[in-house]
Parts: sequence; C-alpha cells; structure tokens
Amino acid sequence: MQHAFSVDTPRPRGIETRRKKYEKKLLSALFALAAVSGLAFAFSACAPQDELQPEGHTHEFADAWSADSENHWHAAVCGHDENDGLAAHVLENGVCTVCGYTVEGTAGLEYALSDDGSRYTVSGIGTATAANITVPSIHNDLPVEAIGESAFEGCTSLKSVILPDSITAVDKDAFGGCSSLETVYYAGGKEDFEKIDIGINNSNFETAEIIFDYRPQF
Ligand SMILES: [Zn+2]
Ligand SMILES: [Zn+2]
Repeated sequence: MQHAFSVDTPRPRGIETRRKKYEKKLLSALFALAAVSGLAFAFSACAPQDELQPEGHTHEFADAWSADSENHWHAAVCGHDENDGLAAHVLENGVCTVCGYTVEGTAGLEYALSDDGSRYTVSGIGTATAANITVPSIHNDLPVEAIGESAFEGCTSLKSVILPDSITAVDKDAFGGCSSLETVYYAGGKEDFEKIDIGINNSNFETAEIIFDYRPQF
C-alpha cells in the first residue's frame, strides 16, 4: 500500500504562514496593550495620592520626631507624604521639651570651651555674616554662658542679636564698635538681664533696645 504523501511532501506552507502572521499580530497587539497600560500607570502615578491609597490603608508613622526650625512631627513611613502630631516646638532654654530639638546658633560663630570643660563662651563672629546673630543656649550639648571678650568687636553690620537666658556675662569689648546694633532679643526677663555681668566698652549693647522674654526662637 502506498502512502498518500511521501516523506518529502512539502508541508502546507500557506497555513503555517497565515498562523505566523496571526501570531505577529497578536504579539504586536499585546505590546500595544502593555504600552498603553504603562502610560496609564504613569498617569495614575501623577494622580492625587488619596486615589492611590488602597481602601482601608492606615498610615504608619515613625516613632522618632522629625523637626525643622519651627515644628516637630512624626513622618509617615508608608511612603505617603503625611505626618502625625505636627506642632510648634515647646522651647525651654533653647531646647524643645517634646522632641529635643535644639535651637541652633548662627552658623559660623566661634566658641571657646571653658577650662573645666563644662560650658562655652562665644569667642568670635567667625564666618557669620548675618545682620542678625542668634546665640544658642546649647552648643555641643553644653550651655553657652557668655559672649567672650571682643567676640563681636567691630562688627558694624550687626543690627540685632538673639540671646538665650543661659548668658551670664558679656565680656569687655564683646560688642565694642558694633555701631549698627539696635536690638537685643533676650529670652529671659528684665531681672535676669540685669544680672548679666557686662564688661566695659559695650555701650552699643547697653543702649540697644532690649526685647525681654523673647520666645519665637527659644
Ligand atoms: Zn500611608
Ligand atoms: Zn519640638
């Protein structure tokens, strides 16, 4: 009995070719779909975050505080731009009693550690160039207790200074020649201010307007 087709009989190429064309079409359709859904995803990423949050999502917040110069808060750790407990610092002597944030002094000020290593004196204006200088109450975890001799001497651009009530002394010439000094913002009351030991040649400091109980920074 003869086989209907020999081994060499050509395969029905026409059908094969049509199938390949169909597969190609299917593939390109799939690619197009993928591209479109990719675009849709890209667009949805720009949608307001509320729409992206799954139903019933509860934000998770860090235990640690985040802080800027005015406020503290717990930042979300779930990837959302949310916060919990945002509030202004509760400052006491330059340290927030809630989050531990410490008011920073103007960058560039120079400090000198006392001989017994227990406190700091502002020893110079350093690279600070601002017209308003903030003296912190704490530097390197130690109290800042004095404006040292000649610390700001000759700083004619200095218009105002913010002083913590940790300051007990303004040494001689500390503000000597500070001819533009107009205002001293002091964190303590009048009685505390009058206890500050002010050395000679600080007339610009003594004739400046003193704002007592200055709170925003402390
Ligand atoms: Zn969240
Ligand atoms: Zn705080």
